[in-house]
Amino acid sequence: MSQNSIVIGVDLDGVCADFYGRMRHIAAEWFEKPVDELSAEVSYGLSEWGITNQNQYDSLHRFAVTQRELFGSMEVIPGARKYLRQLSDEGYRIRIITHRLFIHYFHAAAVQQTVNWLDSHGIPYWDLCFMKEKTQVGADIYIEDSPGNVEQLRSRGFFTICFGNSTNRHIETPRAGSWREVYDMVKAFAG
Ligand SMILES: [Mg+2]
Repeated sequence: MSQNSIVIGVDLDGVCADFYGRMRHIAAEWFEKPVDELSAEVSYGLSEWGITNQNQYDSLHRFAVTQRELFGSMEVIPGARKYLRQLSDEGYRIRIITHRLFIHYFHAAAVQQTVNWLDSHGIPYWDLCFMKEKTQVGADIYIEDSPGNVEQLRSRGFFTICFGNSTNRHIETPRAGSWREVYDMVKAFAG
């Protein structure tokens, strides 16, 4: 397989950007709690922090994006910049695929923060897709952390590397604990 034809579909939150780390600080402010009282070991949906339904999640998320610039203020996950650039330099096509527009009416802020963040952190990419249905975006390899997305992609036969964090410990291999491991898995897949 020629690496020139290989498209890598890369998720942002929890894969390139430390979504849960930043969200923990914003949630501490939102709930008026010391940050230490919010577990760093969260599951998808943030029930450990007291989020019990979709409305609560949406409210916190809306506050985070519109008032605390969530998508522009996350730390980059170590190795993402280095290894994505390396893969890009080697001819792989980096296609960012994110579901950040899942709440209506502040899409401009969400998109603006996202592109600014990608540029300011030096993340190389050719394509930027704001999509819920990741299976509908063509890619040869997916890098994803959300358990539901990993399972859906794999059920459709897509090679999907689960980027490890506290939300997906139950998801089977292939799993990567770091961007170095992602890089090695991509190279092994590409032969
Ligand atoms: Mg994610």
